[in-house]
Amino acid sequence: METCLFCKIVSKNIPATIVYEDDRVLAFEDIDPKAPVHTLVIPKKHFSTLLDVAESDSDLMAHLLFVSREVARRKGIAERGFRIVTNCNPESGQSVYHIHLHVMGGRRMLWPPG
Ligand code: AMP
Ligand code: ZN
Repeated sequence: METCLFCKIVSKNIPATIVYEDDRVLAFEDIDPKAPVHTLVIPKKHFSTLLDVAESDSDLMAHLLFVSREVARRKGIAERGFRIVTNCNPESGQSVYHIHLHVMGGRRMLWPPG
């Protein structure tokens, strides 16, 4: 999608600090981190929100989750604890309409989130 910020990161038209990449998924550092570790994991395929993902993309979504877990391991926060978050639509605070998982940790995470 030409106008999408994260599609531009996928196509390398906008720079990002990439921490993992394969044929289906990209992980890169959040530009405005809210925790010592704050990495975004996205499918290369564009979906505006979680509501746009079809059952036929179940494998991709599972892969996204496994890559997020691998990011937590590589960042050294897997054992102490981490959080995976996705926001969907305005009231959640979603600001970029290309689905992404936030992998966050390196500090005690509050619950419930604000
Ligand atoms: P959300 O608010 O859940 O849609 O999350 C979007 C996230 O993308 C925010 O945490 C932003 O800090 C992050 N973000 C926005 N622009 C960029 C960018 N160019 N590179 C990396 N992260 C970004
Ligand atoms: Zn996109």
